Amino acid sequence: MTRTGLWLLAALAALAQAPDLHGRRTETLLIRNAMVLEGVGTPVSGPRDILIQGNRIARMMPSGGKPVEAKAVIDASGKYVLPGFINLHGHVQDERGGAAMEVDYVLKLWLAAGITTVRDVGSNFEKSRALRAKSAEGTIAAPRLYLYPFFTARTPEEAVKQVRELKEKGADGMKHLGTHRDVMTAMRGEAANLGMRTAHHVGVEETNAWDDIRLGTTSIEHWYGIPDAAIADGVQNFPPSYNYQNETDRFRYAGRLWREADPERLGKVLQAMADAGVAWDPTLNIYEASRDLMRAQNQPWFKEYLHPALEKFFQPNLSNHGSFFFGWTTADEVYWKENYRIWMAALKEFARRGGVIGTGEDAGFIYQIQGFGYIRELELHQEAGFHPLAVIKHATYNGARVLGKQTEIGRVRAGWLADLIVVNGNPQEDFKMLYPTAGRIEWTIKDGIPYHAPTLAADVRQLVAKARESNR
Ligand SMILES: [Zn+2]
Repeated sequence: MTRTGLWLLAALAALAQAPDLHGRRTETLLIRNAMVLEGVGTPVSGPRDILIQGNRIARMMPSGGKPVEAKAVIDASGKYVLPGFINLHGHVQDERGGAAMEVDYVLKLWLAAGITTVRDVGSNFEKSRALRAKSAEGTIAAPRLYLYPFFTARTPEEAVKQVRELKEKGADGMKHLGTHRDVMTAMRGEAANLGMRTAHHVGVEETNAWDDIRLGTTSIEHWYGIPDAAIADGVQNFPPSYNYQNETDRFRYAGRLWREADPERLGKVLQAMADAGVAWDPTLNIYEASRDLMRAQNQPWFKEYLHPALEKFFQPNLSNHGSFFFGWTTADEVYWKENYRIWMAALKEFARRGGVIGTGEDAGFIYQIQGFGYIRELELHQEAGFHPLAVIKHATYNGARVLGKQTEIGRVRAGWLADLIVVNGNPQEDFKMLYPTAGRIEWTIKDGIPYHAPTLAADVRQLVAKARESNR
C-alpha cells in the first residue's frame, strides 16, 4: 500500500471512531495497532489487531497483515488494550442515608474507570435484578452484574431454605456476615449442593478463616477472620469497654488486630486458604481513611464528582456505616499504618503460597466513591509489593476465577467476551492514568459495546452538578 493509501486509511479510521460509536454495538469492530496486556500476568505484546464480532473477540492477529473488513474501527496506535476490570466488591446504590442518588452515577463511574464486571455483594436485590437484565440486553450503560445478595438466616433450617430461595430468585451467589458456625455450615453445604458461590465478610464473630477453609468459602472479603485465626489464645486483646456495635471502637481496635497475629500460625492459615482455594479480596482502599483521614477527606475529584448524597453520608455519624471518625487520633493512624504493613506482607505471602487475590472496591462508604476507589485499590496492591502485571492480573483474570467465569471474561483472547479497555498510555507506568479525572481510558468496551469513557465521566459531572443545584 502507498503512503497516501496508509494515510487515507488512518484518516478514515479516526472518522469511524468519532463518538457515534458510543453505546452502540456494531456487527464487527476492529481495534487496530494495539499493545495488548492479556490479563494473566504475561507481558505486553503488540502491535496487534483485535476483531470483535458481536459481543465476542473473534480473532487477534499481528498488525500490518492482510487488511480486515469491519463495520467500525478504533485506532489504538500507541495505545494499550487490557481486559475490562472486575470489581469483586461493589454495591449498586441509589440512595445514601435516605437521600436519593441516581443509580446512573454509580454505573457510569464504574464504566468510566474501566470496570466491565461487578460482583454486587449487597444492594436492593429486586432493583439489581432488573439492572442486571438491562445490562445484559445492552439497553443501559452498565457493567455486567453478578448478584450476591445478603444472606440473613439465623438458624440452620432457615439457612437451607434461604439458600434455595435465593437460587430460585436468580442470585448468582451470596454474601454473609456475622454468621454463627452451625448456620454457616448449613448454608455452605446447601450452597455447594446448588453450585452457588459465597463471599464472607468475616467480622469479629464465632467463625474465622479456619471455617472458610473447612467449608470451602469462595472468597474472604476485606481481611477480618484471617489474623483472628492466627491469634495465639484465640481472642483479641480488647479493653473491657469495647462494644462491637460502636463503630469507633470497632475500627479503632481493628487497627490493632494484625499485630496480634502470630506469624507462624498466620503462615499456616494462609497456606491452608491457598490449598483449599479460598480466594482473598482485600479491599485495601476502603480502610485508607483509618491510616490517613486527611487524605481521605480531601480527594481532588470530590470537587466535581462527589454526589451530595454521598457527601452527606460520609460526615461522621454513627448511624451511617463507616462514618465513625469521632476523635480519630494520631495514635489511631499510627496503629493503622502498622496494620497495613502487616496486612500487605500477608497478601504477598498468600500469593507466594499459591493463593488467589482478587480486586474489589466497596465504595459508597468511608470517603470512597465508585470507580475512583477501584483505581486506588490497584495502587494499593502495587504498594503491597506486587508487580503492575500482577496487579492487573488480580483485577482481571483472578476476578474471573473468583466468579467462576474464567473461560468467558478477564482476558484479551480470541473466544472470550469482548470486555476491554483502550488506554491512551501504558498503565504499568502509572495506575493514576486510569482515574476518570485523567481522561486516559478512551474506550470501555463491555459485551462488544464501546463506551467513550470521557463522555461517561462528563455525564457524571453533569449529574452531580444538577443534584447539587436541586439540593440548594
Ligand atoms: Zn461491602
